[in-house]
Amino acid sequence: MPAPLACPVAAMPQPASSFRVAVIGGGPAGLMAAEVLGQAGVNVDLYDAMPSVGRKFLLAGVGGMNITHAEDYADFASRYGERAGDLRPLLDAFSPDALREWIHGLGIDTFVGSSGRVFPTDMKAAPLLRAWLKRLRESGVQLHTRQRWLGWDEHGALRIAGPQGEIRVAADATLLALGGGSWARLGSDGAWVPLLHDRGIAIAPLQPANCGFEVAGWSEHLREKFAGAPLKTVSLALPGEAPRKGEFVLTATGIEGSLVYALSARIREAINRDGTATVLLDLLPDRSQAQIADALARPRGSQSMAKHLHRQLRLDGVKAGLLRELSDAATFQDPQALAAAIKALPIRLLRPRPLDEAISSAGGVPFEALDANLMLRQLPGVFCAGEMLDWEAPTGGYLLTACFASGRAAAEGMLRWRRDHESLAGWPARC
Ligand SMILES: Cc1cc2nc3c(=O)[nH]c(=O)nc-3n(C[C@H](O)[C@H](O)[C@H](O)COP(=O)(O)OP(=O)(O)OC[C@H]3O[C@@H](n4cnc5c(N)ncnc54)[C@H](O)[C@@H]3O)c2cc1C
Repeated sequence: MPAPLACPVAAMPQPASSFRVAVIGGGPAGLMAAEVLGQAGVNVDLYDAMPSVGRKFLLAGVGGMNITHAEDYADFASRYGERAGDLRPLLDAFSPDALREWIHGLGIDTFVGSSGRVFPTDMKAAPLLRAWLKRLRESGVQLHTRQRWLGWDEHGALRIAGPQGEIRVAADATLLALGGGSWARLGSDGAWVPLLHDRGIAIAPLQPANCGFEVAGWSEHLREKFAGAPLKTVSLALPGEAPRKGEFVLTATGIEGSLVYALSARIREAINRDGTATVLLDLLPDRSQAQIADALARPRGSQSMAKHLHRQLRLDGVKAGLLRELSDAATFQDPQALAAAIKALPIRLLRPRPLDEAISSAGGVPFEALDANLMLRQLPGVFCAGEMLDWEAPTGGYLLTACFASGRAAAEGMLRWRRDHESLAGWPARC
């Protein structure tokens, strides 16, 4: 049975069907849920706190909208780490291929980049969002912006605040797609956490994912000369783990960028566990330590060490600066020790950068709190989707794919739940 609801103080528009649904949150997950529900003939009202929907989705399109990934599906599905098993049925039902088909259905072509990442042809999010919103409006979905959900009143009605003041909304079912806790200025501020916590849902704390990390402090010289400089063709590893090749950026406070993001979940866990984490940087992953030691042992005559490193190994700029920063003078006197440092330069990381700066959040509503329909076990009639669920993934299109897939799954779960209740007790059950 749906949660008992009071009659609305301000009701939603008169429904075409007897089933009235509120979707809260107009990011990719909420919009996808609204589409599935709208196409099923359900009367959908979508509320978003911001003046327009899809703001983070649009931001994701700024540097090139990487919407999914074309790698082998089993590999794709494994990218969700500990939560891969929970997400697998959702992804099976809406796979990366299905997502691409869906995008094509909006009149937007996609292409696979050299890394296997999938992009819309023009790399942008705005044309896709425009076409999508048009389709949503045509299917009868009502979008209400500047409408912030504040929780439930004592009768179970939704409390919604906007320029009109606070209203109460009665819905037969509610789908929450409120996002994580990063980039609060785009709407996903994590303010929903205490609202669900107060209703007895044990929320896993939101933590930064795909984020940069801080060091104890770079020297003024390194910071002034190299903050913002990219380290290209390097590899990084946590001790005992296989190194990963890529690139990252030295920042004023530490390190960030795609290679750091790829390791960020395990770095964060190591910091949570041990207080700090050390990553090993290989400045020349394409050369062996022995090759490097041989090159360094060649006579350098009156040349400075900086020139010698440049001549023999093409090691200069930010790479040489970091080597100097993190190695002592004695290491520079010994080709073997210097070669070892070049292959495994330890960078001690103290903490992630603040959650608000992260690409995504870990933590959120645990799958254990949800049934197979993605409905909160403790709040019948309330479904959850998107980044607010407790999963994380690296960048590469995995985030958006799981948001789309979980939005669909929660909407389909809601339709199944409704069918079950219709056949059990008859509908509608609200006031
Ligand atoms: C800089 C950046 C680049 C990114 N690039 C990529 C990429 O290339 N590929 C990729 O896969 N992912 C990328 N992501 C991640 C991706 O954008 C997010 O994972 C995705 O947008 C999450 O979707 P969502 O629908 O769960 O939540 P969101 O997109 O965060 O939407 C949540 C919505 O809920 C609304 N809301 C929140 N609280 C309330 C409330 N109380 N009442 C009413 N409305 C509320 C918000 O206003 C917001 O519109 C990027 C993220 C960032 C920050």
